Amino acid sequence: RSKTMQRGSFTVFTRKMGIEIRERATLMQNLHRAFDAERLFLMYQPQIELNSGRFIGMEALIRWRSDEGEMIPPVDFIPLAEYSGLIVSLGAWVLRTACFYMVRLQKAGIAPLRIAINVSVVQFRQEDFILNVKKALDDSGLNPQHLELEITESVTVAGTAIFEQHLHALKKMGIQIAIDDFGTGFSSLSYLDKLPVDRLKIDRAFVTQIDTPGGPRIAELITQLGRKLGLAVIAEGIETQQHWDKLKAMGCHEGQGFFIGRPMLEDDLIAWVAQQQAKPISC
Ligand code: C2E
Ligand code: MG
Ligand code: MG
Ligand code: MG
Repeated sequence: RSKTMQRGSFTVFTRKMGIEIRERATLMQNLHRAFDAERLFLMYQPQIELNSGRFIGMEALIRWRSDEGEMIPPVDFIPLAEYSGLIVSLGAWVLRTACFYMVRLQKAGIAPLRIAINVSVVQFRQEDFILNVKKALDDSGLNPQHLELEITESVTVAGTAIFEQHLHALKKMGIQIAIDDFGTGFSSLSYLDKLPVDRLKIDRAFVTQIDTPGGPRIAELITQLGRKLGLAVIAEGIETQQHWDKLKAMGCHEGQGFFIGRPMLEDDLIAWVAQQQAKPISC
């Protein structure tokens, strides 16, 4: 009996995989087409200083609107873009677009300290990555001091020569580095101490669990770790006043989340900033 069942489930498994592979191929084709047809765009989520509520920056987040008008979240296509290599040109486009937007904001008299951009490890380890960053800065005219790159801890790059080389080159240019989703992945504490990192980003999962008994412990630990190492600490996924209050009490410096502001289209963010100046959110 067990043999039949095993064979049966194996057949089901392979058939399902076949469909998934075909679906993935279609999705990949659509993604390439969407990129060519400029159906990808960026939204920007505000970041604030927890003590003052002051608007200090924003994170660029990619979006894909399909032909059917449906929104496909980045978790559904970034891994695919990484796998196919499209992430390299996609990432370069994100970098340029966000830098140009930041300069547009500055020209409009809105001057947040930084624009944060997510960089895939596949993109980060490319030989010409630093060159691409330089080009985006030169072409847009953005001062490197205002650019922050968010990278995730990853077994595939951490500890490699190119990872360290690129971090040092970015630092030399005056660009800031944040470790995204900190605490969820492969963490090597030694690189935090010796490599030029500016900021730790507490993952949303640890902010969500602040509400549960014993839940704040990880957020507290990351905050203390960051402070001890002289790094800034920012929390993502702040959804309530309580999240804000507790993170502030722990000593976390900055934050972003739906309670503060959702990811917004360019002009909506400008409107949000104006509204903030008129009537700041409580802190
Ligand atoms: P991430 O960099 O950790 O970004 C934070 C995610 O949390 C975003 O999801 C944001 O919309 C969401 N978020 C922020 N505040 C809240 C909140 O209060 N509640 C909830 N429920 N969610 C909140 P999003 O935009 O779907 O992006 C998911 C991930 O996709 C990002 O995680 C990042 O890893 C990746 N990603 C997004 N844009 C890019 C990009 O341009 N390039 C690369 N390589 N990756 C990107
Ligand atoms: Mg991020
Ligand atoms: Mg994050
Ligand atoms: Mg995250």
